[in-house]
Amino acid sequence: MAELRREPITRMWVVITTDHPKGPSDYLPFKPPYRPQDSEGPCPFCPGNEGMTPKETFLLGREGGGWSVRVIPNKFPFFHIEGGFDRRPEGMYDVMEAIGAHEIVVESSDHKLNLAVMEPQHIEKILFAYRERLIDLERDRRFQQFLILKNYPGVFNRHPHSHIMAMPAIPRRIDEEIWGTLDYYRRKERCIFCDIIKEEILAKKRVILETVHFLIFSPFASRFPFEAWIIPKVHSPDFHHIHEEEMGDLSVAIQSLFMRFYKLLSDPPYSLAFHTSPIQDQSHRPEYHWHIEARLRIGLREGFEWGTGFFVNPTPPEDAAAYLREVG
Ligand SMILES: [Zn+2]
Ligand SMILES: [Zn+2]
Ligand SMILES: [Zn+2]
Repeated sequence: MAELRREPITRMWVVITTDHPKGPSDYLPFKPPYRPQDSEGPCPFCPGNEGMTPKETFLLGREGGGWSVRVIPNKFPFFHIEGGFDRRPEGMYDVMEAIGAHEIVVESSDHKLNLAVMEPQHIEKILFAYRERLIDLERDRRFQQFLILKNYPGVFNRHPHSHIMAMPAIPRRIDEEIWGTLDYYRRKERCIFCDIIKEEILAKKRVILETVHFLIFSPFASRFPFEAWIIPKVHSPDFHHIHEEEMGDLSVAIQSLFMRFYKLLSDPPYSLAFHTSPIQDQSHRPEYHWHIEARLRIGLREGFEWGTGFFVNPTPPEDAAAYLREVG
């Protein structure tokens, strides 16, 4: 048997298979994602090799010298910061320059550290670096949308790092969420994310962890096994308006979630994205509610998804939340 569940925000259907629900052991063993970089030459993100990277846009020093978090422009950006959009036709097609900012946050001076074993106080420093960079980038009126992304392990470098992007257009996934948020708001005059938070706290069965300011839960129509969302319990459209106290709380929540993944699935590979409202007056959406989406990169059926647009998830989110609650 399988269940078709509709994700309430984007109204996308997801196939949740329930006949033989898959638990953590079904995804093991996969090859451990962590491979220290030995033979590939010096790591440009390690202390002492700062000269291999562009000059930092932000730096958090450390007592006794050195640095703890460092933000640098990406040497190989998806978006580049100089120039204009130069919108132009190419036959019947539209083209424009990929104007934007693409920065790398080197999350630690320690090449082998990862979120599961970092001190929450250190994760707080990373969040602080994100916030400060976004506040600065917001002043560039060409940018419409921020995205903070992390892949673990990194694709080209295993040194712990994440990406900050400031883009001239709103990416489709955020656009779909905004469309759903506005549609719900027009009908009910309430935020759909706030309603989901109330619903999940009441239902309990998909809650992984609740802190003073944040809820971590497995979404009803999880597209991926062990998908988890981290969301502020009080309505807020913009991540970069987060307060100090919330940052402290969020860093504890993040460490706890990734430690649970680490224990349950033996250090699985994952991706993490911060979804936050578009910026600038013309596109800012006060109705939107920022959140973090985390997915493990395990057990995917890309072919079916690619062919149909349906995601298939063989681990019901109620099971995923129960496993993650228990391992904590
Ligand atoms: Zn390194
Ligand atoms: Zn809300
Ligand atoms: Zn989202």
